[in-house]
Amino acid sequence: MSKTSSTSRRPYRVGRAKTGLGLFATKLIRRGSFIVRYIGRMLPNRIADELDTKYLFEVNARWTVDGSSRKNVARYINHSCRPNAEADVKKRKILITAIRTIHPGDEITYNYGRDYFNAFIKDHGCRCASCHQKKLVLRSEQRKRNKRKGSKGRKRRKH
Ligand SMILES: [Zn+2]
Repeated sequence: MSKTSSTSRRPYRVGRAKTGLGLFATKLIRRGSFIVRYIGRMLPNRIADELDTKYLFEVNARWTVDGSSRKNVARYINHSCRPNAEADVKKRKILITAIRTIHPGDEITYNYGRDYFNAFIKDHGCRCASCHQKKLVLRSEQRKRNKRKGSKGRKRRKH
């Protein structure tokens, strides 16, 4: 970390999210701009496979970054199926970049990808804002259907 980067210049902070902690924008982050680097020990994949941590980021067929250190602020970024940021690998560096304009107070998210989703999210259901919204819509449709069913049951009998 260079001396010139002070805490106040960072456009984000760690805060409470629905699923634990999350990373939130404190300033307007424009689409396409760099947000933060996902940092950690660089490990060969076969070593990383043995580790019991969720904070692993595979950068290529040989190397994985172990991002479990608390210094790695990017580890607080939660998964979303409709994210506002993405993680790009450039020369083994993992860069989190905004793919939409992110407003102060918005939670910063990126899509963790299919492998992670299937391993850690699928079983208990995704709790990202987009899936949460979908669930609410489904539930209200279900309720409407049940109501209709109920009224049908109470239909007047023919004389
Ligand atoms: Zn989701």
